[in-house]
Formats: sequence, C-alpha cells, structure tokens
Amino acid sequence: MAELRKDPILGEWIIVAPDRAARPFDHEQGRDHEHDGTAATDLCPFCKGNETATPDAVLTIPSGNSPDSSPDDWAVRVIPNRYPAVSASAEETSRDEFFERMPATGYHEVIVESPSHDVSLQCLSDDQFVHIVRAWRDRLAVVSSDESIAHTMIFKNEGSAAGASLEHVHSQLLATTFVPAAIESELAAGHAHFQRTGSNVWSDVLDRELAERARIVSSDDQFVLLCPFASRFSGQMQIVPRRPMPGFESTCETELQDFAGLLKQAVGCFHRVFPEAPFNLGLHTAPPRDSRRDFYRWHLMITPRLTGIAGFEIGSGSWINVSTPEESANQYRNDIKSP
Ligand SMILES: [Zn+2]
Repeated sequence: MAELRKDPILGEWIIVAPDRAARPFDHEQGRDHEHDGTAATDLCPFCKGNETATPDAVLTIPSGNSPDSSPDDWAVRVIPNRYPAVSASAEETSRDEFFERMPATGYHEVIVESPSHDVSLQCLSDDQFVHIVRAWRDRLAVVSSDESIAHTMIFKNEGSAAGASLEHVHSQLLATTFVPAAIESELAAGHAHFQRTGSNVWSDVLDRELAERARIVSSDDQFVLLCPFASRFSGQMQIVPRRPMPGFESTCETELQDFAGLLKQAVGCFHRVFPEAPFNLGLHTAPPRDSRRDFYRWHLMITPRLTGIAGFEIGSGSWINVSTPEESANQYRNDIKSP
C-alpha cells in the first residue's frame, strides 16, 4: 500500500508505492509486435476489444463517427491505473511528528490515446489529438473539483527510456494531496515576480521571447511553441497560452482545437528532428485551490530524453544542457519550414 513520506530535511513529499514494482512491462519482455508479426491485441489490455482486462472507464470520448455512439465506439478511454501511485482510499498511517507520513490518496488514471495498438503519438490523426486533449481537460476538471486534491498533472512517457512500461500509446493523470516541489517553486516565483514588478512573469517571458524570436519555434493567435531560455534538456520545448490561463481545465473549445493542432505539430517536428527518440510530456497546471493561481499559467513541457540523467543531475537537482535552446529552436523551425 502506498504512502506519502515527508523528507525531514527538505520538507518535500515522496510517494512510496512498492506495489508499482509489480506492474507489467511490455518493453522489458521485448514484445515488438510490429516486427515479429504477432497480434498485439491478444495481449494488450489497452486495445479495443480487451476492455474487460482493465477497470471500468471513468470517461470515454466517442470517435464521433456514428450518429448514436455506443460505449464500444470510443476514441479515447480513461481508466483507473491498475498499479496506482496514489488511490481514492488509502490506509491510515501511523502518526509521528518528526518522520511525517500521510495516506497516499488521490487519483492515478491512464488515458488510452487510441483504440488501436499505435505505439507513438505521431501516428495519430488531427481528430485523435483533439479527443486526447479533451479527455485531459475533462478529467482535470472532475478531479480538481475534489476538495482533497492539492495538485494535478497530466504526463506522458513515450519510449521505455522515458519510463513507459506499456507500449500502447497512453498518457496518465496523477492528482495528489500535496503540491510537488517543482510546481511549488513555479508558484512562489510567479508570486514573487508580481510583488516585485506588478506584472505576470509568464506574460513578461512571452513578451521578451516574441520580441527576440530566437527561441520561438511556432506561434499563432492563442499559443506559442518555444524552446525555453534556460531549458534543462537538449531540444526541450514548451507550449504556453498567450491568454492568462492558470488552469488547463478551463480551456475553451476553440483553444482546445488550436492546442491539439500545435501539439501535433510539435510532436511531428520532434520526431523528424530526433527520429525514434523517447520523450516525456508534462502538463503543468495551477493547483486548484492555491491562492497564487493568478500568477501562474498552464504550460506543456515536451522533454526529449536524448541522454540519460547522470550523477551531477541526480546529486544536485541542477542540469547541464549540452545544446543551446537557440540552436534547438533553429533546428525545429527549419524542419517546419521545409516542405
Ligand atoms: Zn494495444
């Protein structure tokens, strides 16, 4: 059973979830359906037709192809994670004021991003991208309304080197009763910047980036795709809305369509520049009940995993980026421009 433990020195919460070690691994078992010609659908719990192999869906997004869509007609399916890091009910933990523990309550869900056994986001259609981001928004809205939830995140691991255990294309939602350290730092920084300057740090960053253009990959009326000035990873990209929007759950329909298009462009561009490379997506969105929400803006991080995380990064929590964000943005821009 999972529990939260507070680091007594740093004050950061860690999820201790030993049950997750038992989850199945496609990649480790060397299943490679595309190349060995076996039918992946016999084995894969995420494929259409194998719904009984998973818990019941908490949300299905219909494909919209049939006028009266049945539950069998799904384009995206959201299910509780069978091996959750946090769950709706957790055992009470023993009380200790020094070594603090808490029950690991929350939500851990899997967003199955295609009914067929596609293994990469880049294979999916424009419509499918819209279905996926709609599922993200709708589940975030539901989960955020739970008063016990302090923080929500959507993330994706694509490729085993990025942490994916099952190859069928999917993302995950993790909602916790604490705010993780990286998000707390972003909230505190946004608040401090406002107190110092009277303006929103996200607006100020976008203004500078759009004036300089050196790190902009692509932009439209609503969103900007860029390589952040102080990117931690080689080739890291970020999608930021131009409008001050703290939480992704309040994204409107036209923004959703537009965001899906830009995300598809970013993923396609990434795969052409770095073929076969694993990557992570992380959707950072304002904690639902934090008083500093107004100084925050949701953003999506696209993090290539071109090199491993080494000793300095593990030891220090600081990062060495082996390429400049200007050079990365230039590579992506050239790819988008080329016919
Ligand atoms: Zn599958």
